[in-house]
Amino acid sequence: MVQSANLGYPRIGRGREWKKALELYWAGHLKEAELHAQLKAIRLQHLRKQRSAGIDIIPVGDFTYYDHVLDTAVMFGLIPERFGDHAAGGKPDLALYYALARGNQAAAACEMTKWFNTNYHYIVPELNGLTPTLTHNRLVDAYREAKNELGIDGRPVLLGLYTFLKLSKGYTEAETDRWIEALLPLYAQVLRELEAEGAAWVQIDEPVLCTSLDAAEYGRINRIYDALRKEAPGIRILLQTYFEAIEGYEAITALPVHGIGLDFVHDGGRNEQAVLTHGFPADKVLGVGIIDGRGIWRSDLDRKLETLQRICEKIDADRVIVQPSCSLLHVPVSAEQETALDAVLRGALAFADEKLEEAALLARGIRHGEEAIRAELDESQRSRQALQQSPSRARSEALQGIADLATQPFARASSFAERRETQKERWQLPLLPTTTIGSFPQSAEVRGARHQWRKGAWSEQQYDGFIREQIKRWIGIQTELGLDVLVHGEFERTDMVEFFGEKLAGFAFTANGWVQSYGSRCVKPPIIYGDVELDAPMTVEETVYAQSLTELPVKGMLTGPITILNWSFVRDDLSREEVAYQIALALRKEVEALEAAGIGMIQVDEPAIREGLPLKREKWPHYLNWAVRAFRLATATVKDETQIHTHMCYSEFNEIIDAISALDADVISIETSRSHGELIASFENKTYDKGIGLGVYDIHSPRIPAVEEMEAMIDRALRVLSPGQFWINPDCGLKTRKEEETVLALRNMVEATRTARQKY
Ligand code: GLN
Ligand code: ZN
Repeated sequence: MVQSANLGYPRIGRGREWKKALELYWAGHLKEAELHAQLKAIRLQHLRKQRSAGIDIIPVGDFTYYDHVLDTAVMFGLIPERFGDHAAGGKPDLALYYALARGNQAAAACEMTKWFNTNYHYIVPELNGLTPTLTHNRLVDAYREAKNELGIDGRPVLLGLYTFLKLSKGYTEAETDRWIEALLPLYAQVLRELEAEGAAWVQIDEPVLCTSLDAAEYGRINRIYDALRKEAPGIRILLQTYFEAIEGYEAITALPVHGIGLDFVHDGGRNEQAVLTHGFPADKVLGVGIIDGRGIWRSDLDRKLETLQRICEKIDADRVIVQPSCSLLHVPVSAEQETALDAVLRGALAFADEKLEEAALLARGIRHGEEAIRAELDESQRSRQALQQSPSRARSEALQGIADLATQPFARASSFAERRETQKERWQLPLLPTTTIGSFPQSAEVRGARHQWRKGAWSEQQYDGFIREQIKRWIGIQTELGLDVLVHGEFERTDMVEFFGEKLAGFAFTANGWVQSYGSRCVKPPIIYGDVELDAPMTVEETVYAQSLTELPVKGMLTGPITILNWSFVRDDLSREEVAYQIALALRKEVEALEAAGIGMIQVDEPAIREGLPLKREKWPHYLNWAVRAFRLATATVKDETQIHTHMCYSEFNEIIDAISALDADVISIETSRSHGELIASFENKTYDKGIGLGVYDIHSPRIPAVEEMEAMIDRALRVLSPGQFWINPDCGLKTRKEEETVLALRNMVEATRTARQKY
C-alpha cells in the first residue's frame, strides 16, 4: 500500500515558541531545565500534529536546538580548538553548543552560510586537524522519545556523510578520503545503535547528489553507502535528495540502499522522466517528493495525482511513498491562522500543515481511487482558480512595463571611470571612508513603539515623531563617532523586505507566516501574489529628514529587486525573471524620487543574489544574467554624480565576481569577517576596480572587536585592494545588536581607520 511521509517539520512552532524559548534562555531568563522542558513539549506537539494529519512515516531527529548541521558536527565531537579542549568526550554542554553558533568573549563563532539555494543558514563545521568521535547519539534519543512518549515509530533523519563533508571546511581535497574513513565508522555506529533501539528505517539526506558531481565523487558516494550497508546491515536506508534533479540517475538508483527520495517539484521534470524511461530498481522504495516543500501554494492536486498514477504503473504502489519535495523547514507552520488575509488569497495557500494534508490526501487517492477524494480535489482546484482570475493579476502599469522591456535603459549614462571622477569631485570623501550598512539597533523601545502604532494605540503622528527622534539621535551618534557617510538607521522597518512589500501593490503579509533564517532568527517572507506596482514613495520622507540634520552625506536605503524576490514567496504563474523586472520597475521610481529629493547616495541592498543561484552550474549564467539586468533596470537612470551603493552578505564571492561587477554599482559592501579572510584572498587573482568595503567586523556576535583586530583586517584587505577604492564598514546591518555594543564597536572601527589612514 502506498504510504505518505514527511521529511522534516518546521522547528519554530506555530507562535514561534521555539524562538522565544531559546532567546529567553540566552538572556538568562530561562533555566536550562526549563529550556529542555519547553523544547520537548514543542517537539512532541509537532509529532502529534504530523500523526493526526495522516502521515504514515514521521521524521524524528529533525528537531534541533539551533541548526541540524551544527548538531551533526557536535554529535561527532567536531569542536574547533579555539573553544577549548573537549577531547574528554561526552555530550558537549549547552553553553558550548551555543558558543559554536554565536561566539563568546573568548572565541569567534563558527561561520554561517546558506543551506543550498534556500534562505536557511547553517553553521559551517570546521574540521581542521580534529579527530571525530561519537559523543552521543542524538537520533537514538529522538527515536526513543517519540516511541516512549507517543507510541510513534518515527524515522530518524541523519545528514548524509558526503553532504556533511561538502558543507564543512578546514580540510583539503586530498584529505577528503581520510575524512570519509574517519567518519564512516561513526555513521555506522549511529545506524547500528538505531537498529538496536528498534528503528527499521533511517532517512539519510544527501542533497549534494543534486549538485554537479564528478566521477571521483560518485566513487566516494558508492564507497560510503557500500560500507554503511556492510557495517550496519540491519537498518534500511532511505537516501533522500532534494532541491533539484539528481545527476547520474542510474548510478544513484543502483546504490546499495533500500530507498531513494527524489524531488519531483524542482527537478524541471527530469526525475520523473528518468523514472519513467529508465524504470526503478525492484528492490527499492521510491520517495516521490511531489508536494512543493518550499513554496506556499496549494498544489495542482489533479496533476500531482496523475503523476503518481503514472509512477504507480511502473512501480508497485507498495514501494511508492508520497512526500513533500524536501523538509518543511522552509515554509510557515499553518495557513489556518491567517484569518486576516483576503479570502481568495488565503484559499490558495498551503503551509506545512496543509502540505501534510495534501500528501496524505494523494496517498489516499492512490489507495482508494481518484473518486474517493474527488470532492477535495475539486475544492482545491476552485481555490487556485479564484486567485488566478483575480484583478490583482491584471495590473496595467506592471504589465505595460514588462511589455516595454526592450526599450528600457539597462545601463548608466557614463562608464564607471567617468562617474568616479564626477563623484570624487562632488563628495570629497577622505581616504578609506567609513560608513555602516544601514540599520541601527532595533531596541525594545523601537519595537514597542511599532507595536503601539500597529495596534492603533499610537497615532500615525505619534509614531512618526518617535521615528524622527530615533533618526535624530543616531545622526548625532554617527556624527560624534566620526563616520563619513551616514544612514538614517531603518527604525521604521521591521524586515528589509517586509517593509517594502507592505508599500508595494501585489504583496500580502501573513500574521504568522514565519520561517527560520538562522538560529532563532525567523523571517516572515511577504507573498508576491499579484502584479507589483509602486503607488507612493516609500523611503523619501525619513531619508530627507535625516539628510536635513547633517552636512555629511546620508545614504538612501533600499532593498534590491532580486533580494525582494528571493526572500519572498513568489506566485507560481509567472517566471521569477518577470516578477523581478516588475519589482525593479517599481524600485526605479523610488530611486528616482530619492534623487529628485536631493539624496545623492543610494544603497540598493542585494544580500540575496547568491541565494538564487541554481544548484546546477550550467544554469548559473542564465540566472545571473537576468538578476543583473533587474538590478540595472532599477538603478540605471540616475545622474553620474549620484552614487549607487549595494551590499551583500556572504563570503563565497569568487565565483560570481563578474556578475557582481556587472551590477555596475559605484560602491559595494560585503560581509567578510566570518570567513576569516578567505574572501579577501579571492581578490588576489581578480581585478575589481569599483568602490568596495569588506566588512571589518562580525555583527552576528555580541563580541566587541578590538581595534587591532580590525586594523589587521584592513591591512590584509589592502594587500590586494587599493586604498583609493576601499571603504570601511561592519559586515552587515546592526539592527540585532545592542546600542552599547554598536557604539563601542563602531568607535573601535573609526579608530582603526584613523591608524590605517596614516599608513596608506
Ligand atoms: N540595509 C540592511 C541593514 O542594514 C541590510 C541588511 C542585510 O544585508 N541583510 O539591515
Ligand atoms: Zn548584510
